[in-house]
Amino acid sequence: MTTGASAVRPRPAACVIGWPIEHSRSPLIHNYWLKAYGIAGEYRREEIAPEKFAGFIQSLAAHGYVGANVTVPHKEAALALSQPDDRARAVGAANTLWLDGALHSTNTDVEGFLDNLDACAADWDRGLGKAVIVGAGGAARAVIYGLSARGVERIMVANRTHSRAEMLRQRFGERVQPVGWNDRNAALHDAALLVNATTLGMAHQPQLDIDIGRLPSHAIVADLVYVPLLTPLIRAATARNLRVADGLGMLLHQAVRGFTLWFGKRPVITAELRALIEADLGPSNGARGGIT
Ligand code: NAP
Repeated sequence: MTTGASAVRPRPAACVIGWPIEHSRSPLIHNYWLKAYGIAGEYRREEIAPEKFAGFIQSLAAHGYVGANVTVPHKEAALALSQPDDRARAVGAANTLWLDGALHSTNTDVEGFLDNLDACAADWDRGLGKAVIVGAGGAARAVIYGLSARGVERIMVANRTHSRAEMLRQRFGERVQPVGWNDRNAALHDAALLVNATTLGMAHQPQLDIDIGRLPSHAIVADLVYVPLLTPLIRAATARNLRVADGLGMLLHQAVRGFTLWFGKRPVITAELRALIEADLGPSNGARGGIT
């Protein structure tokens, strides 16, 4: 016979770990889904300093967690301290952890980027010959991995620090072609996709200085930045009637896998969820896509 005490199951809990972490919208997303599916779980923020990160994730279960998202500045450390899948290893960063005997990790920025493009611009990858990525940090690596997986033949990378773009060619092979920072506009004329994977355009940052008038009219513009929702780049692309995929769409899509792993239900990105996060981001209306 089961006693009352043993019948009580702990609520599954997950968290997002960063330093700082108060800006993270992940709790809004996951707690929306927990409520929508009637799952008695929790998703919290954990502000963990770099020197305490290893100890924290090595005792994730003792803290009551079945898994976690990891954000700046811990994504590389998360990779090193877990058993990464091929995707996280190739990207060189992990953003999603789960316990299954051992501590496993993956990088869901890859599918966040791809699934958002699929939702915003169906068939975007059909015959896509050339993409231009601005930026060469961790997010750019996830984008390049995803574009390579979809068979994009030429991926031009323009980065302020040219050596980092060169390192991406070494990491991902010859389809990655570094472009001088001052040559980024010239690279656009036959590009079917432009991706901003820098921090430029974020609130309190300079905007990305790029002449999207050089893009062909069938091109798609993706911005990974989502604060503000309507970045100067997304505004300019929309004004030119180009198809766009915004950073909030990517954020929502990258969250799907973690929720599935931790709480056992594949969640759907609804218009209501997107509106909830848009409202939290503040008054910048007319955002595009990302709903499936
Ligand atoms: P990161 O590793 O720190 O890389 C930052 C990139 O921005 C580097 O390429 C850096 O160039 C460039 N940059 C910074 N300031 C610049 C300036 N003044 N002029 C020119 N380039 C500049 O960051 P990350 O993790 O890749 O993230 C990049 C962006 O993607 C962030 O805005 C992040 O919020 C966003 N992101 C969004 C999602 C999503 O779900 N929507 C997911 C991941 C990341 P240098 O190499 O020359 O420093």
